[in-house]
Amino acid sequence: MSIEERFLKYISFDTQSDPQSSTTPSSMKQLELGKYLVEEMKKIGIEDAHLDQSGIVYGTIPANSDHGKVIGFVAHMDTSPDASGQNVKPQIIRDYQGTTITLNQEKELYLDPHEFPELLNVIHHDLITTDGTTLLGADDKAGVAIIMSMAEHLYHHPEIKHNDIKIAFTPDEEVGRGTENFDVEAFHADYAYTIDGGNIAEIEYENFNAFSAVVEITGKSIHPGSAKNAMINSIRIAQEFDAMLPVHARPEYTEGYEGFNHLENIQGKCEKTVMEYIIRNHDLILAKKQCQDFENIAAFLNQKYGYPMVKVTIEQSYLNMREHIEQHMYIVENAMAAMKECGIEPYAVPIRGGTDGANLTYMGLPCPNLGTGGYNFHGPFEYVSLTMMKKQVEVLLKIIERNEVI
Ligand SMILES: [Zn+2]
Repeated sequence: MSIEERFLKYISFDTQSDPQSSTTPSSMKQLELGKYLVEEMKKIGIEDAHLDQSGIVYGTIPANSDHGKVIGFVAHMDTSPDASGQNVKPQIIRDYQGTTITLNQEKELYLDPHEFPELLNVIHHDLITTDGTTLLGADDKAGVAIIMSMAEHLYHHPEIKHNDIKIAFTPDEEVGRGTENFDVEAFHADYAYTIDGGNIAEIEYENFNAFSAVVEITGKSIHPGSAKNAMINSIRIAQEFDAMLPVHARPEYTEGYEGFNHLENIQGKCEKTVMEYIIRNHDLILAKKQCQDFENIAAFLNQKYGYPMVKVTIEQSYLNMREHIEQHMYIVENAMAAMKECGIEPYAVPIRGGTDGANLTYMGLPCPNLGTGGYNFHGPFEYVSLTMMKKQVEVLLKIIERNEVI
C-alpha cells in the first residue's frame, strides 16, 4: 500500500478525543483505528502488534542484527476536539503551483499564500487539503502513515540491518492524556522520536517548563449603601493583582524563547474572586522567578490590606525535556545527520507548549519530536505535503541505518 492510500484510509476514521470524558480512551471511536492498525501491522509482518486495554497500539520490528540502540517511533491516533474529524473529504493537489487553493467556494474558505506563507515552501509538492468542513487529521495520522510505511519498507528490505525497532500509536494526545498509560518499561526502547510536527526540516527537543497558579482573593462584602471604609471588593483586588504582573510577559506579546503568564480564567463576586493562570518559560530559573512574582504580589497585598486576603497555589504541569535530551545529544545529532543525508537542512525550534515526547522523556524515554509535513493543525485550513511525508520515511530509514554507526 502506498503512503498516500494509507493516509487516506486513516483519515476516514473519526478519532476525535473528548476533553470532558473521564473514560480511557476518552472516546471509544479511537479504538476502531487502533484495531485497524493492529491488523495492518500484522499483515506487514509485525507479529506482536496489539492494542492494550488503555487503547495504545504497540508493536516490534524484530532485530536482524544486535548493533546499535533500540529506537522507538511514536505517533498519536486521535484528532483535536477543536474541529470535527467526521466524514473528512480530502482534496488532492498534484504539483502545487503556489496559487490560492479554494477549499470551499460556498463558505469562501481559501488557502492563500499571502495569509499562509508556509505554502511557498511546498511549491511543486503534492498536497492534501480539506474541503473546508472538517479538519484533515494530518495531526497526527500523517505521523502514523510515515511510521507504517517505514515499517513496511524494512520488511521488504532485510539488507537494512537494525536492532529491535519499537512502534507505539497513542490515543488522547490532544486532550493531554496521551502518555497517561504509556508503558515505558515494556516498550523497552533506548530512545524514541514522536513524529508529530510541521516542516520535516524541524527537530524539537526543547519545550516549556509549565506551572499553573490559582489566585484566590477573599474580600469583605458589605451592603454597598453602607460600604464606606469597610467594603473590600475582591474583584478590584484581582485587578490590582493582575496589574502588578509584567504586562509584556503576556502570550500576545511573546514568541520564541520568551516566557509568559497567561490569565486563563477569572470568576468573582465582591466576596470572593478566583483567577487561574498558566506560567510558561523554556528556562526553569526564569519560570520559577515568574512563580515567585505571584507569591511576592500576594505577600504585598496581604500586608497592604492587613489580613491574609490573597492565597496563591502553584502546581507544576510539565518540564522542559532539554536538560534530559542534552545528556544524550546523539539522539538529536543522529536525526540531523540523517536529514542532511536526505538533502534537508535541519534546524531546531523551541516548542511553545508541551509534547507527549516531553512527558515520555521525564518518564525515562528520551524523545524529541520530528515533523510530518503537516500545517495549520486543528481546523479546516489543515493540509499536508505528501512529498514531505514520503521524504520523512526516507529520513526515518536513514536514522535507523545511521544508528549502526553510533
Ligand atoms: Zn499532534
